[in-house]
Amino acid sequence: MILLQGSGVGAGIAIGTAFVTDTAAVESSFEVIEHDRLTTEVELLDLALKRTAETLRKTRTEVPEDAPHEIAAFLEAHVLMVEDETLREETVNIVYRESVSAETALMIHRDDLIKVFESMEDEYLRSKKDDVSQVISQIHRQLLVLKGEDDKRTEQDLSEYIVVAHELTPADTVSFTNLKMRAFVTDLGSRISHVAILARSLKIPAVVGLHGEVRHIPHGALVAVDSHTGQVIVNPDEQTLEELTRRHQEYDRQHQQLLAIRHLNSITLDEHEITLLANVELPSEIDTALESGASGVGLYRTEYLFMNRAQSPSEEEQYESYRQVVQALDNVTIRTLDLGADKQVDGGRRQGKVATNPALGVRAVRFCLRSPDMFRTQLRAILRAAVYGNVQCMIPMLSNLEELAQVKATVARVANDLRKENIEHNSTVPIGGMIEVPAAAITADQFAQHLDFLSIGTNDLIQYTLAIDRVDDEVNYLYDPLHPSVLTLVKHTIDAGRKFDKPVSLCGEMASDSNYTRLLLGMGLRIFSMDPATLLEVKQVVMSSSVEQVVGYVSEIINCQNSLKRLELLEQLNRIDLTDRSAKAFA
Ligand code: PEP
Ligand code: MG
Repeated sequence: MILLQGSGVGAGIAIGTAFVTDTAAVESSFEVIEHDRLTTEVELLDLALKRTAETLRKTRTEVPEDAPHEIAAFLEAHVLMVEDETLREETVNIVYRESVSAETALMIHRDDLIKVFESMEDEYLRSKKDDVSQVISQIHRQLLVLKGEDDKRTEQDLSEYIVVAHELTPADTVSFTNLKMRAFVTDLGSRISHVAILARSLKIPAVVGLHGEVRHIPHGALVAVDSHTGQVIVNPDEQTLEELTRRHQEYDRQHQQLLAIRHLNSITLDEHEITLLANVELPSEIDTALESGASGVGLYRTEYLFMNRAQSPSEEEQYESYRQVVQALDNVTIRTLDLGADKQVDGGRRQGKVATNPALGVRAVRFCLRSPDMFRTQLRAILRAAVYGNVQCMIPMLSNLEELAQVKATVARVANDLRKENIEHNSTVPIGGMIEVPAAAITADQFAQHLDFLSIGTNDLIQYTLAIDRVDDEVNYLYDPLHPSVLTLVKHTIDAGRKFDKPVSLCGEMASDSNYTRLLLGMGLRIFSMDPATLLEVKQVVMSSSVEQVVGYVSEIINCQNSLKRLELLEQLNRIDLTDRSAKAFA
């Protein structure tokens, strides 16, 4: 029996036979070519590009009607990448410059692009390197077909099988889903990569990010995939199989139990109403948000819409996406683009200089104010979609009031343009800001006076306050939501909102972790926005807490000078007998 650990995505536990695919990222040796054959290589490359685009388009037409719409979107995005002139141009340049085969040139170009993506500080954007790799692997395979060195693909029914691959492209995933695969595991991919999103939407158990470990899974072996723990068990013994069945029943039981509170009011034992909202990245997450019983969307990360494509989405496309979410969920906080610095909208393909400290560079609102056309287009789409429900517009990474004044002036101008053009819109959309830079948190009183609402972004607030790159594993151990400086800034922001009667929400990961729910309630937080998958767990804690009981712990925890002791205090707070209103405040 072998136990492998990756990131669990999708839903549930599956046990089946390993189907080891031939979809591994294709590698070729460095192949130098005679000068007079280089033109032939370029002709083959052109043919391979054409065939890859055709194959992807064909797969697109085979996507089942009822499949989540992002599957088609992924395939379209990959077609755009294949047809991107810069991809061809740079590969052709390498063929001539290095005198190498088209395959070798593709590999060199892929590695260069991947380096650019890997240098990005945003986890989501870094995960886009998988798309580059997938697209280039597909072109590569076409080249091998053209040169007669192809491998064979399967047509067999995979309903008994767990697909095992170094990497799956969205196209592969569609094909394997059509062949009814039971689950899949891959070396590449992160929790927010395309395959992970697909697994979630298709509700298939999957484990991604096994970092080369799939080589330990022989074709035909019995494999268990636990999407909750991220474990892949090869040749599980009897006892493990029993344990998996027990776990499966336990997950099911917990899920059913939580579903029972879905329609209940989110209210504490001492009658404080708590708003629980969902964070979403794509319109396709609407169903998950609705299933969780979220009362709206507290953070719509719109930058997702701009990624992995040759051109920015038009006003019309943005409007449609925003409208879809607004019509389904009614209360929606749309965050303007959080892109920038090394995170270019073209996915880094026309990448220029990389900032030394990208997280401190031109990103989010700074980027938007420097890209007025793009910003105005997005604001137009937001104001237009705001006709269909309660929409709020949220500005990321504000660090001073001048930025906010510029944003407001732009919104006013956009509203005026729409009015003159007779285009239906809502010019009274509340403008809120993310409090995620320490400067904004420290001066939250000032921001509260100029914003309609505040939303605390603890992911960045912790990064900037503690000077730790949120994506650098080496300093991960310092990432501490309970650090007194972080808690002080969170509390200060909540207090500022209360003082100026402005709603304050928290939309960083801290809101998704039910370990912090009571502490945040005690600090005065009343609006939580989170990954919908965690919403019911948080709701359960809300419903079994009393603000009155937990409030006494807050200053004790904030003022505690020892990190282990703080954790102990938090555990103690979380252990208070949930139904006992008379439990004493911390002694
Ligand atoms: C945050 O910083 O806490 C946040 C919610 O924004 P993002 O994670 O998208 O930077
Ligand atoms: Mg942020």
